[in-house]
Amino acid sequence: MNCNECHSPMTQLDPREITDPQPSRFIPRWRCDEKECSRQGEVVEDDGRGETAVSDFTAHINGDDERAAAWQIVFDSAAVPLRSPIPHLARLPGRGEELVYLLDIEALTAEQRGRLVTHIANKFNIPAEEVDADLDTHGCPILAEHVTVSIANPWRWL
Ligand SMILES: [Zn+2]
Repeated sequence: MNCNECHSPMTQLDPREITDPQPSRFIPRWRCDEKECSRQGEVVEDDGRGETAVSDFTAHINGDDERAAAWQIVFDSAAVPLRSPIPHLARLPGRGEELVYLLDIEALTAEQRGRLVTHIANKFNIPAEEVDADLDTHGCPILAEHVTVSIANPWRWL
């Protein structure tokens, strides 16, 4: 299960350490141990919906990077879901060939997607409808520079 705040994989609490007044009503509990996360140490119950809704690969932007502020506005987070943990070379307008990851568009909420379209449209001066259509056909590259990728559910990726 991943943290709702920072999207990092959470630590599952040992059931033996959980003192529940109703032991028959066992619910797995998870805790975010990400130092930078505002919800670090908070214990959440697994409602059984988390795992499939969250992408297995997450990109974390370095706080010193100039894009960090934009990520916070667009995604309301310093972390975004990726389609793959492997970067590839892509030709970016104004930058030449750079290593990029591909954003997992399907994992975005409608609000995040809307803000992403507005952001790209303003930044590159492209009509919003065009940006929106391009997201589905070409995806959205994430410059790999200053980005760290974490992999959730690693036992699926042996
Ligand atoms: Zn967290």
